[in-house]
Amino acid sequence: MIQIGSKQPVVFCDFDGTITINDNIVAIIQHFDPPGWKTIVDDVIAERKSVRAGVGEMFRLLPTSQREEITRFAIDQVQIRPGFAEFLTFCKEQQIEFYVTSGGIDFFIYPILERFDIPKERIFCNTSDFSGSYIEILWPNACDDVCDNDCGMCKTKIIRSFSNSEYDRYIIGDSITDFAGAKLVEHVYSRSHLTTKCEQLGLAHVPYNDFFDIIRHMEAMKVGAASS
Ligand code: MG
Ligand code: ZN
Repeated sequence: MIQIGSKQPVVFCDFDGTITINDNIVAIIQHFDPPGWKTIVDDVIAERKSVRAGVGEMFRLLPTSQREEITRFAIDQVQIRPGFAEFLTFCKEQQIEFYVTSGGIDFFIYPILERFDIPKERIFCNTSDFSGSYIEILWPNACDDVCDNDCGMCKTKIIRSFSNSEYDRYIIGDSITDFAGAKLVEHVYSRSHLTTKCEQLGLAHVPYNDFFDIIRHMEAMKVGAASS
């Protein structure tokens, strides 16, 4: 049970490049290589285009007739970062709430996460519509009026719905798209570009390579309702 006065720990975990070793959207687009995708990526990186606009445009280059192939490719090429299953078990044991907050797409995220016991309502991602000729990405978690970033899947909106008066909030991520969330929460586990960004801007963070590192760190910090 949670002690009176203590806050409920909650984890917001990125998917691409965090739960998985690689970035699945990039892998799909590179593999199927539809004409025109590179310009879109350049525009997103140069911030001439929002992430939502760029991702939407890239998937609109892929015909829905390739649905099976694309889905199969995404599932087959994925590599899960070591310690992820153990981290989920750790969270259950320590009564730490665990959410996936991902800018990825449902058609690969749900099948990849199927083998892990994560309730569907705790997985936030974009969704997809294969009913037309080309893949259309839908945005059920788009930004609210507090966020003007046009995220597509607005991580900060989700994080803001967990008040810091009730929750002790942790983010696990790897990229620039996790930085806005990292600024909001009490604790940051970072890799790669997110670590660089945190260092540049002086934001407290704990670097990790895999989920075993995070388990060890949380154990040392006695994170979790069960151990408090
Ligand atoms: Mg990522
Ligand atoms: Zn947003």
